[in-house]
Amino acid sequence: MTISQDIRQRIRQRANLLCEYCHSSEEASASLFTFDHLTPRSLGGTDTEENLALACHRCNGRRYNFINATDPDTQEEVPIFNPRFHKWLEHFVWSADREKILGITSIGRATIQRLDMNDDFHDDGAIKRARRLWIRGGWHPPVQDLQQEK
Ligand SMILES: [Zn+2]
Repeated sequence: MTISQDIRQRIRQRANLLCEYCHSSEEASASLFTFDHLTPRSLGGTDTEENLALACHRCNGRRYNFINATDPDTQEEVPIFNPRFHKWLEHFVWSADREKILGITSIGRATIQRLDMNDDFHDDGAIKRARRLWIRGGWHPPVQDLQQEK
């Protein structure tokens, strides 16, 4: 299966060149991001724009074909964040130092843990190190994530 160049471009623009899960910037990455199937192909998901999300390699790999995850606070099984149905700012917020994503709903918390969006379990906190550098560069967090805080 091949995703056409046209669709790839439209998905990139729709996502503002950010991973639709962790909001890392594709422009700050040494490699192009991937296209995550929101309904996994193994469950019948297709290559349509509605079923694809721009995702960094970390988030895509860790989401694998999971569609649900467990909220660490309540042990409730909930759907993983789906950027077509959910608004990022309704489920996530940046920590005061901007290095961590915090979940403000069950979906947010469960998704952060499943995708290890702060590298608490993998890669020895590499994403937090990268975010610190991006903050110094002045391009993190993405402006669109700070609208609510004004
Ligand atoms: Zn990501």
